Amino acid sequence: MDLKFGQYWLRRSERQLLGLEGQLELSARSFDILSLLLSKPDEVIGKAELFDVVWAGMVVEENTLQVHISALRKTLDAGMITTVHGRGYKYTGPQPVAVSTDLNPGNPAGVAASDEPHPMLAMSSGKKVPITGGCLCGEIRYRITEPALDTCFCHCRMCQKFSGSPFTVGSVYASDAISFTKGEPKLYKSSPFAERGFCAKCGSSLIYRPLTPPVSPDWEGWTLIYTGSLDNPVANVPTWHLGVESQMPWLDLQLAERRVRCQDSPDLVEAWAAFNLPVP
Ligand SMILES: [Zn+2]
Ligand SMILES: [Zn+2]
Repeated sequence: MDLKFGQYWLRRSERQLLGLEGQLELSARSFDILSLLLSKPDEVIGKAELFDVVWAGMVVEENTLQVHISALRKTLDAGMITTVHGRGYKYTGPQPVAVSTDLNPGNPAGVAASDEPHPMLAMSSGKKVPITGGCLCGEIRYRITEPALDTCFCHCRMCQKFSGSPFTVGSVYASDAISFTKGEPKLYKSSPFAERGFCAKCGSSLIYRPLTPPVSPDWEGWTLIYTGSLDNPVANVPTWHLGVESQMPWLDLQLAERRVRCQDSPDLVEAWAAFNLPVP
């Protein structure tokens, strides 16, 4: 069953969150967290339970959960997710209501039959904003019509070589949601089961995808886009690390947990204040 809560619609089968303007960007893990919170409104869901359900069998930093909760809070109306200090989180928004996925207007339980907003219909009227990106020189441009399924760091040697960087960040999308609107990446078969695409003119790393025929059913239907090539990569927050055996020993992303703005740094505030100036 799908759930409506306030102005939002959680489509479980499609793993989508819709708002009044159409589909909202949500990572797979954030979707799972929201689903769990909505299943027990006004009940505290402990951190242990959240980790068990959302990251079953995986070891993750506690900070990761906070990143997703904060992404959800930015997406939803204020006050829908409440922190219960030392315990966990609870959903504190309007009571979720189970709705039928059947959009037949004759169905009294169907969303389309009610006076509620029609997020699904708004989407088909073209309000949904596509994700766009391309290479450094502009020869290659692409357009994506569905949100990312997952985003991760990869520290593997092949990604290091391919990108010339210590690690890559990539987002997985359904392949049929991606279309190249200008040019096509040049493809390099980098392993027996996958290929990488780049701009033949400027060399930008663009994609990683399974070869056809797929090596297994899991290696089909998706394409990883290197997030640095997105026009707006900020929304694609990595949720996990891959290839950690090759991670640069000097790279400690855990150290990035604490984040301080210049204007919040007592040292900088004091230094600028010595010249009667605010931190710029
Ligand atoms: Zn290019
Ligand atoms: Zn890699």
